[in-house]
Amino acid sequence: STSTNPLKRINREILTFGVNRNKEIEDLRKLEVFRREFLADVSHELKTPVFAAQGFVHTLLDGAVDDKKVRKRFLKRAAKSLDNLDSLIHDLLTLSQIETGEIKMHFEHFDIVVTAREVIDQLENKAEKKGLTIRMDTSYPDPIFVHADAIRIYRVLVNLVSNAIKYTDKGSIQVGFEVEDDMVQVFVRDTGVGIPPEDLDRIFERFFRVDKSRSKESGGTGLGLAIVKHVVEAHNANINVVSTVNEGSNFSFKLPIGQSTAEMEEEAKLEL
Ligand code: ADP
Repeated sequence: STSTNPLKRINREILTFGVNRNKEIEDLRKLEVFRREFLADVSHELKTPVFAAQGFVHTLLDGAVDDKKVRKRFLKRAAKSLDNLDSLIHDLLTLSQIETGEIKMHFEHFDIVVTAREVIDQLENKAEKKGLTIRMDTSYPDPIFVHADAIRIYRVLVNLVSNAIKYTDKGSIQVGFEVEDDMVQVFVRDTGVGIPPEDLDRIFERFFRVDKSRSKESGGTGLGLAIVKHVVEAHNANINVVSTVNEGSNFSFKLPIGQSTAEMEEEAKLEL
């Protein structure tokens, strides 16, 4: 048989080696293109707020500082640009840490209903300023314990609810849950501008924005959903979105149901 013929075996191995090698080189090439594009994107994104802040500060130095009204307005704008720069750097660091595996997930059992409440409390003000209401789905009044990274899931929800506020002009935002077997589906629904079908996959890419000016106006970095996707995937889940232009969007993901503290204590007792 062929497998016992050493020459043929070696030939076959050389052939496979060649094929694997080609694939490796192809992958490296793709990575290199990606790295270069990413660097170009990052440089461009960093330039925008720096350029703006620079403009305001230099105009002030060139004389505008003497006019009390102009002074305040320009300082405010410079400050906003610097705040945007700060968010961008923060998001970039988070993304790179997640991608290089520097950030480890800390799984624990916690009540996602409490987490959602905290997120809503944090963002309610922002929503009210735009005349929007945030509602919590009350069909599950009881605690829902999940097994996940509590801090990262908190940030995921902050990101999704912040986006819902940014991209909604009137109506409401709803945070809710659907329990199915040993999983809970968490959703954030809005009555906002929606996302065109051709962009639905792309919104999770770094720096992709449907409407650049709207995103930047509200301090968006274009990295929020890329981070959300990474975090949700680190929980072995997918982030899903259903959206209709001018009607609204619904972002959702699933988490495994965990145990309550009482249940864990009960189990610990049984083990003793
Ligand atoms: P940004 O900082 O621009 O908000 P994200 O990564 O959070 O970046 O989102 C990427 C893009 O996806 C946004 O620029 C926006 O066009 C779109 N998007 C995200 N969330 C929503 C939403 N709830 N409704 C409509 N569009 C959204």
